Amino acid sequence: MISVEEAEGIIFSHSSDYGAEEIFYENALGRVLAEDLRTDRHLPPFNRPTVDGIALLFSSIEKGITRFRIRAIQAAGEAPVPVTGESECVEIMTGAALDTSADTVIRYEDLVINEGWAEIRTDPATIRKGQNIHSKGKDKKQGEILVPAHQSITPAILGIAASVGKTILRVRKLPKVVIISTGDEMVSPETAPNDFQLRRSNGTTVRSVLEKYKVSADLLHLNDDPDEIREALRHCLEEYDILLICGGVSMGKFDFVPRVLEELGTIKLFHKIKQRPGKPFWFGKTQPGRLIFAFPGNPVSVFMCLHRYFVPWLEKSLGIPISNPVYGILQNDVTFPAPLQYFTQVRLRVSPAGQLLAETMDTNGSGDFSHLAEAHAFMELPADKNQFKKGEVYQVWPYAFLT
Ligand code: AMP
Ligand code: MG
Repeated sequence: MISVEEAEGIIFSHSSDYGAEEIFYENALGRVLAEDLRTDRHLPPFNRPTVDGIALLFSSIEKGITRFRIRAIQAAGEAPVPVTGESECVEIMTGAALDTSADTVIRYEDLVINEGWAEIRTDPATIRKGQNIHSKGKDKKQGEILVPAHQSITPAILGIAASVGKTILRVRKLPKVVIISTGDEMVSPETAPNDFQLRRSNGTTVRSVLEKYKVSADLLHLNDDPDEIREALRHCLEEYDILLICGGVSMGKFDFVPRVLEELGTIKLFHKIKQRPGKPFWFGKTQPGRLIFAFPGNPVSVFMCLHRYFVPWLEKSLGIPISNPVYGILQNDVTFPAPLQYFTQVRLRVSPAGQLLAETMDTNGSGDFSHLAEAHAFMELPADKNQFKKGEVYQVWPYAFLT
């Protein structure tokens, strides 16, 4: 049995690169940007007033002129109107393209406008050359990077892409994933289970977690029959980059998955981690680089292993920063006698001092998944200790609240 850190190291050393593809920007939300977004021209592309008012020459103010004839009114989107004389101004709106002849803008609030003339009603000594102008190229020069690659595309990034006319975006390709649940006793959610059956839920949860990354996985359910499992896994190992298997990896008489995977020639990288829940986790690969993550079927184990191992692996493979863990302060004492890394479900809150506080939930062990919706995260309590005290700080793997 290996430690959590060893398991993580083995999984991370198998991060993969699925390449890149070009897609229409409106479909790119949540995908990973594979190119830098650059400005197609200076930003802003022209000197632009930041207020509505008049544009004039600062030298006129220096000469003591306070009354200006309005040459023209210029709206945003209109061609720039030059200021040709020292007693002239152009009435101009925020966002319009200021002509290069004008160097100062005075806002309406500091003016009296009357019959084609604008008169300054504030102290001219307070007027500064260049005031109220957002100058051409001040934010970015043409060709500069606006958004660097290797991050998830957010609404803000999509807006920036639109603003520079990038309607086709280069993004990281996603792996082809199949989620396989197992178990004779597990019936579909649409079915009424008999007294000895349960409705399956793992596939639904796993698929929903992957949706954040725009990975659209296929779902498959297999009975605990070695022939059925062998045929299905053989097919899946040809068709998919990643197999996410839930159930059938423990020590039971009907846990056929590890044996069948080995019969099919896959390479076992580990089986069993010193952790609770999720101890029987099996991880392996095939020669062409397909990966198999096979979690024990209990939904808490699946959820924990997914967030502790698979999501970070996916983030690393997609070339984005790994989002978790964060660190939280334990809010109560915990005793855990087994020599295993203990992933306890916690509720999170942020204290007025900005600290992340984690309070454990009263759960009935790893089979109890009723608290998954109430908890926000797993707190990872190290295997080399049995007593954990209020106030101590440990890693936290959030799946709600901070995500
Ligand atoms: P296993 O790892 O196959 O021994 O499964 C352990 C337990 O996990 C089962 O007895 C079920 O209670 C639960 N389980 C297995 N598969 C699923 C599933 N697809 N959805 C929800 N619970 C499951
Ligand atoms: Mg089973």
